[in-house]
Amino acid sequence: MTKEYRTLHTTVNLPYELAFGATLTRFFDGLSAEKILGTRCPKCSRVLVPARSFCPRCFIDLDDWVEVGQTGTVETWSLVSYEYIGMAKTPPYITGLIRLDGADVSFTHLIGGIDMSSIDQVQSRLAIGTRVKAVWATEKPGSIFDIEYFVPI
Ligand SMILES: [Zn+2]
Repeated sequence: MTKEYRTLHTTVNLPYELAFGATLTRFFDGLSAEKILGTRCPKCSRVLVPARSFCPRCFIDLDDWVEVGQTGTVETWSLVSYEYIGMAKTPPYITGLIRLDGADVSFTHLIGGIDMSSIDQVQSRLAIGTRVKAVWATEKPGSIFDIEYFVPI
């Protein structure tokens, strides 16, 4: 026996504005100039990317700015093929955790420039440990999408 489910269709409008603050403003200004910036913790020596104003491990303020590499290593990835309301990008696309050269934390971004027509195609080009490099967008208004995606090298 099939159970009938009813749904409510409505629209939720949620205007939202987030102030970047000094640290993320400088980080995004760096992206506009095709630089990926992090901050180094003087206590644990970790380089955090995106730059943070404080070390969440040591709870101390950070102001030692460093430019990290535009290349890195894929730590994990996911092929997104299902579309739902509110997505910033139309599937298929790949999100990945990338350990940029010179950084000590994972950087979340898109991985592209490869055939995404099937999981087999993606797996033939992408694995944990694959080296990638940043592909810069033509327009760089100072957002995370100033980097269009990372491509396997
Ligand atoms: Zn620290």
